[in-house]
Parts: sequence; structure tokens; C-alpha cells
Amino acid sequence: MADDQQYDWASLGIDVTKPSIARTYDVVLRGKDNFEVDRAFVDQIVKIVPEIYDVADYNRQILGRGVRYLAGEAGLRQFLDLGSGLPTVQNTHQVAQSVAPESRVVYVDNDPIVLAHGRALLAENERTTVVTADVRKPEEILAHDDVRRLIDFERPVGVMLVGILHHLHDDENPQRVVDTLMDAVPSGSHLFITSFCASSQEAVDAEVQYQGLLGTGRFRTPEEIEGWFGGMELLEPGLVPLPLWRPDEPVPDELTVGHRLMYGGMARKP
Ligand code: SAM
Repeated sequence: MADDQQYDWASLGIDVTKPSIARTYDVVLRGKDNFEVDRAFVDQIVKIVPEIYDVADYNRQILGRGVRYLAGEAGLRQFLDLGSGLPTVQNTHQVAQSVAPESRVVYVDNDPIVLAHGRALLAENERTTVVTADVRKPEEILAHDDVRRLIDFERPVGVMLVGILHHLHDDENPQRVVDTLMDAVPSGSHLFITSFCASSQEAVDAEVQYQGLLGTGRFRTPEEIEGWFGGMELLEPGLVPLPLWRPDEPVPDELTVGHRLMYGGMARKP
């Protein structure tokens, strides 16, 4: 956004003095819905992980491949996209509805900017909506009127926690969040996770910056991330660096720090 001072952002609950998760992600996706403070944060991360812009692309790309699989081969028609972020290209509903137009998508985010900028773009048809809610309170999400209006909990659901669980501190119990959501959906539902991974010294250094400047950002081990699937069998190829998950294009033999900064995987509830 051109000028942080020209609008009464505070009246929308938007704090332009501190970086926000959704807006800093918008910076690395080369979007326009961010402020100077968000760009300054990314400038610090770039010093540690120069490829951070590519990492955002890898995350969006796996999101697209994952949703295409879920709506295609897995045959899902309902998606709960938690920590959906600001609208960008190839959002979940666009990918899912391009495969199956009847697909229903509920986006959930706790940043008011997602509602401010996202509602018009994300809630673009009657099968798609945006809910402002906190994933740390999964019971409230599951009981939310808009969620229950679009999602039939008797039928399989694609539960998407893409790029969000690393923003939960250990004491916020991401495992409880995952378990509560997966307990609420029937057999045939899928869990789709991507997360920052402590896969290099740069990742460990980046965690210090994230925690210090943004207040969140846990880079967990592959074992910790895989643990969230709670013993459900991971679909091929398992939990892997993002570019290795069912790639559309050949992947270099030697992976960079950026390729390995986030891991992702998907499982089907038996
Ligand atoms: N899922 C999208 C993707 O992967 O492209 C966006 C990921 S973005 C890195 C993380 C999003 O999670 C941000 O929009 C942020 O506002 C949201 N978020 C972080 N903590 C949250 C919470 N406790 N409840 C709901 N949303 C949250």
C-alpha cells in the first residue's frame, strides 16, 4: 500500500506499526497489501535466506498441486483452508472449482486485513466464503455458522493447514488443533500441511529473526511435523521439501536452503 498513514487502518483493527504474518507473506509473494514495517521485516529475513521470495512461490505451488489432487484424484468437494492469507493467484477455490465447479471453500484467517481485502476477492461466489477466526480455537471454527452453512461434516473434507502451524507456539498446542479438526471430519477426509522446517543453519538463524521481529515462526524438525499427522499414513511421497511433493517439473538433484526451508505432506483419514 502506497502510504501507511493516509487511512485510518486502526479503525479496521489493522496495526501498521508492527509486521503482520499475512502482510509479510504478501510482501514475499510480491503483492500490494503490505506496509513499510512488513517490507522492513522481509529485508531482514532476506539477509539470512536470500531465497525467501522463492520459498513463498514453492508454498503457493504445492498448495495448487495439493488442491488439484484433492479435487481431482481424491474427489473432494469441500475445503477448509485455515490461515488462508490475503488473496493472491491460484487461490484454493479457483483451483478446486476449476477441477470441480461445485467445490465449496471456507477460508479462515485471524488477520483483519484478510477480511478487509479478501472478502470481495475470495468470497466471489456462493460456494466460497471468508471467516475471521483463530485456528487456536478450532471448536469455534467448527461451530461457526458460515462454516456449517458450506461444509457438510458428514462428507469428506480437505483440511488445509498450509503455512500456518509454524505460527503457533509450542504452548499453543498445534497437535490439539490438528486433532480437534480431524476428529470432526469423516473417513476419506484429507489433512494437508506445510510448515517451516529446521533443515539448515539458515533456518535456525531465521527462526531467531522471526521470533524476535514477528513474534512467531517455529522451525520444527521433520519428525515434529510428521507427528502432527497422528499416525495417519502419509500419501506418496511422504513429508518432503515442498518442491519434491508431486512436482509438475523436474527438480534439481541438489536442493538449496530455500528448497528445504519448508516441508509438506498430505494424509487421508482412514
Ligand atoms: N495458507 C496460505 C498459503 O499457504 O499460501 C497463507 C499462509 S500465510 C504464511 C499464514 C496465514 O495464517 C496468515 O494469513 C496469517 O494471518 C494466518 N494466521 C496466523 N496465525 C493464525 C491463527 N492463529 N488463526 C488464524 N489464522 C492465522
